[in-house]
Amino acid sequence: MMNLARSKSLAAYDRARKLIPGGVNSPARAFGAVGGHPLFIDRAHGQYLYDIDGNRYLDYIGSWGPMILGHAEPRVIESIVRAAERGTSYGAPTENESRIAELIIAAVPSIERVRLVSSGTEATMSAIRVARGATGRSKLIKFSGCYHGHVDSLLVAAGSAAATLGVPDSPGVTTGVSNDTIVLEYNDTVSLRQTLDSLGHEIAAVILEPIVGNMGTVIPTQEFLTTLRSETKRHGVVLIFDEVMTGFRVAYGGAQSLFGIEPDMTTLGKIVGGGLPLAAYGGRADIMDQVMPAGKIYQAGTLSGNPLATAAGATTLEILRDESPYEYLEQQADRLGQGLLKAANAAGIPAQLQRVGSMMTLFFNDGPVVDWPSANRSNRQRFARYFWGLMDRGVYMPCSQFEALFFSRCHTPDDISTTIAAAEDVLRSMDQ
Ligand SMILES: *Cc1c(COP(=O)(O)O)cnc(C)c1O
Repeated sequence: MMNLARSKSLAAYDRARKLIPGGVNSPARAFGAVGGHPLFIDRAHGQYLYDIDGNRYLDYIGSWGPMILGHAEPRVIESIVRAAERGTSYGAPTENESRIAELIIAAVPSIERVRLVSSGTEATMSAIRVARGATGRSKLIKFSGCYHGHVDSLLVAAGSAAATLGVPDSPGVTTGVSNDTIVLEYNDTVSLRQTLDSLGHEIAAVILEPIVGNMGTVIPTQEFLTTLRSETKRHGVVLIFDEVMTGFRVAYGGAQSLFGIEPDMTTLGKIVGGGLPLAAYGGRADIMDQVMPAGKIYQAGTLSGNPLATAAGATTLEILRDESPYEYLEQQADRLGQGLLKAANAAGIPAQLQRVGSMMTLFFNDGPVVDWPSANRSNRQRFARYFWGLMDRGVYMPCSQFEALFFSRCHTPDDISTTIAAAEDVLRSMDQ
């Protein structure tokens, strides 16, 4: 074990904590779920992160999803530099906005029109407003453990850092807002059907992660998905797939292309911006054409469709389309998943490996994880020891049991073997 120096990161964290709440600009970065202090990053290249103490880590976060091509992909960087030389923002239309819109519409068949925004949160917030405006209804259904950004009405029983920190409801979210949100359990087809039967006429939208990443990786049953599609259609409810994480990750066309289910609206983020702040929401033309200025539902953004972000995003999508890394990612992900599970089994540690493509979670859990109550039974203390053990061996995993790991096409078969060997070492030496 390496016992890596971390004193510069600790000093940087002490400085940041006096200036920024908790020292970070997004809570998951603070390592709150695993203890200790975060590492401050100096730079990243390919499959590696380098911290300010000079340590190198194999990166399994990839900026929490976006970096599927690896860090600092030369063509993406060049597109950003070229764009920056022509000015960084105009507040006027550019051709690159149509270029990326065409790429999105070609990739995701259920999207007929798309609007660009700057974060996943903005995408889900806007999609919900549009669904409410289009239906004239106010209530929403979301699922416990699904995270859709920090939108007030969706910050109820949310996953990601909210789950990690045990804050299902945030102070500052009014009961007036959360009263319009109905929370159901993921994969619970019966209560979904019952709720739509009794309240369908009041419900504007059902929003979900079509493969959950934000309570760890949780996979929907086919029955759950087909019921969602048929019952929302029957009740005139807008079905929103939040593919901010899964879009261009589990397949080029997202989770909906894997399952063959077409939602009415889709939100995208993370990969779609190629590592810059860009996200999108889109869907059926008859719904999206109600967005201003085509229609009356207001939504706007000073930096929306920013030239640097559209350059990075469009270049990333073109590379993914033309050089499809998905088969390679699937092969390596299969090896990694099997290797991690075997390592846990060999050490006599109860574990579940849940995976779709290059998105997976090793749950320290006795049984399959199908929803938030079952995810919540995972052994967090064991996860924290596993996390720090891997860190000490130069492997940077997501710092919570309730997050998915991601890797990139830069991760070599040797990197995957190294990671499995590190996990074997950590789990073998872990006292039960
Ligand atoms: C990350 C994420 C969001 C929020 O995106 P931000 O860009 O962080 O605002 C929304 N939905 C899902 C499914 C996500 O994974």
